[in-house]
Amino acid sequence: MNVIDSIPEIRQLRWADPTLSWGLVPTMGYLHEGHLALVRRAKAENDQTAVTIFVNPAQFAPTEDLSTYPRDLARDLTLLQAEGVDLVFTPTATTIYPPDFQTTVTVQQVSQPLEGAARPTHFQGVATVVAKLFNILQPTRAYFGQKDAQQTVVLRQMVRDLNFNVAMIICPTIREADGLAMSSRNAYLSPEQRQAAAVLRRALLAAQSAYAQGERRGDHLRQLMTETINTEPLARLDYVSAADPETLQELTDVEEGVLLSTAVFFGKTRLIDNILASAYEMAK
Ligand code: AMP
Repeated sequence: MNVIDSIPEIRQLRWADPTLSWGLVPTMGYLHEGHLALVRRAKAENDQTAVTIFVNPAQFAPTEDLSTYPRDLARDLTLLQAEGVDLVFTPTATTIYPPDFQTTVTVQQVSQPLEGAARPTHFQGVATVVAKLFNILQPTRAYFGQKDAQQTVVLRQMVRDLNFNVAMIICPTIREADGLAMSSRNAYLSPEQRQAAAVLRRALLAAQSAYAQGERRGDHLRQLMTETINTEPLARLDYVSAADPETLQELTDVEEGVLLSTAVFFGKTRLIDNILASAYEMAK
């Protein structure tokens, strides 16, 4: 496994044999089974697999957890080696953002609601770094988790708008036994908060099951999620949403599909989760 922090070396390896397909899994490290599921899918579908580990300063607001974000490069590399990953790109912040850096990528509408409303500069940071990683590695396919639903919408829009020649593969959310979506940020939770955090999934399932029984009023779906989250004393609700899965606009009446999502604080830790519900899914 090649572990590389320089862009010219990445390019050399990437193009050593131009006939090979490359799968890319961008991450911020502190890997868990959710990340490894993306890696396994990338390995299964490509000749070569690259993982990037970069805690991207541009997607954190000054008030957020950039300095405390969990990191353990040695452990991450052991895990990736065991998966048979070919290349790990571990750039420094100055490799990605040299002092004279001045270009950003902004995906307009779909970056604005939900996570974008709570974190106004977040998706510009995400889109910019992913655009750079796509240009540096030029992967055939790139793998992202449904866990970050809005991120997948923003990045798919960017790929269409800027004509990136990369197939976007979105993989299902991997969960703990009690339904909590795996996240590097779960490491921040106290044992009591960790137990309480299962309420996100319960709230989403409550709305999904109402939807399955025919509830189509957006307000009612949002209300159900709010009520469920408010049953948990350690949870402080940030938002609940029942939105159009493509435009991410809140729905009054659900017609086809609905992206049910929520963000909840436990102390200072902010967790997100979502379920994509559609009449089609329900019929399966
Ligand atoms: P992160 O390191 O949090 O930036 O995540 C890197 C990639 O892993 C993103 O595409 C995430 O959506 C994905 N990911 C994170 N957690 C999960 C999970 N529990 N299940 C599936 N994918 C995930």
